[in-house]
Amino acid sequence: MKYAKHISELVGGTPLVQLTSVTAGLTATILAKVEYMNPGGSVKDRIALKMIEAAEASGELLPGGTIVEPTSGNTGVGLALVAQRKGYRCVFVCPDKVSQDKRDVLRAYGAEVVVTPTAVAPDHPNSYYSVSDRLAKEIPGGWKPNQYANVNGPASHYETTGPEIWADTEGRVTHLVTGVGTGGTITGTGRYLHDVSDGRVVVIGADPAGSVYSGGDGRPYLVEGVGEDFWPTAYDPTVPDEIIAVSDADSFAMTRRLAREEGLLVGGSCGMAVEATLRYARRLQDEDPAAAEAAVIVVILPDSGRGYLSKIFNDKWMRSYGFLAADEGATVADVLR
Ligand code: PMP
Repeated sequence: MKYAKHISELVGGTPLVQLTSVTAGLTATILAKVEYMNPGGSVKDRIALKMIEAAEASGELLPGGTIVEPTSGNTGVGLALVAQRKGYRCVFVCPDKVSQDKRDVLRAYGAEVVVTPTAVAPDHPNSYYSVSDRLAKEIPGGWKPNQYANVNGPASHYETTGPEIWADTEGRVTHLVTGVGTGGTITGTGRYLHDVSDGRVVVIGADPAGSVYSGGDGRPYLVEGVGEDFWPTAYDPTVPDEIIAVSDADSFAMTRRLAREEGLLVGGSCGMAVEATLRYARRLQDEDPAAAEAAVIVVILPDSGRGYLSKIFNDKWMRSYGFLAADEGATVADVLR
């Protein structure tokens, strides 16, 4: 019989799928790595598993301990999955821009959720960084994985995501595109692909316009899970060869196209990463058609669209920000009236 002893054993080993519709007119082979196939529904299961196992090994996390983390949801789900098996309590702190759906998911897994305001500086006492620091210190047995600074975040990608991409493309990958949040994915996966290919693989970061990685001042944007208003140490800025900034409007438009045209119901940071991928592929094709034809570009899709049904996939919400023209989203009855 073939079975896992616990759902957390099924983290990683996600598939690649070719994008064939949104890539019309492009000659490069564009492959999406579908991270919502992880048991917790996102790429963050990988770092959760590695960070917990490393903290147990180092003695930072003791039996019966409490995991306290500022997380936009996905890291929380991964941590909650692993914590359940091992008997840890979980307390998660998330900014109020994070959707109600995502908070409900964390609570469903048995975690406690503390919500903090988005529009305060990171060093403000009510910021989600400050609140989580205080809780981790004051709860007995508290341990903060701190995905923004934990080397085991990038390490998990160096050990799993990178090798999976290399193996599944039989070493033919030429480019990696991934969104940058904590920077763990791009740092670990990009570093592995650089190392294994002797620097041949080009690593491209996708970033919300306004975020620091693409030269912004940290002004707010709506795409969740990516971009920052400070420089996390999990991010090694020497890894990306290029960073491409994408607006909320373009990120969300592409997110909706991925669901409608590719059957990929994914989150906003996925649309952002694919938009950056297509721009890069278009430019490469204009500048060097032969290189574009030979290119195998892997883009990482971090999570599922299920957590964004009331936002990106809700016409009213999209119209309220001007992301959808007033006449879009008409019903059949509207049209035939
Ligand atoms: N997209 C989503 C939806 C995420 O939750 C995250 C993690 N913050 C990322 C992208 C970016 O990954 P990383 O933190 O590894 O840079």
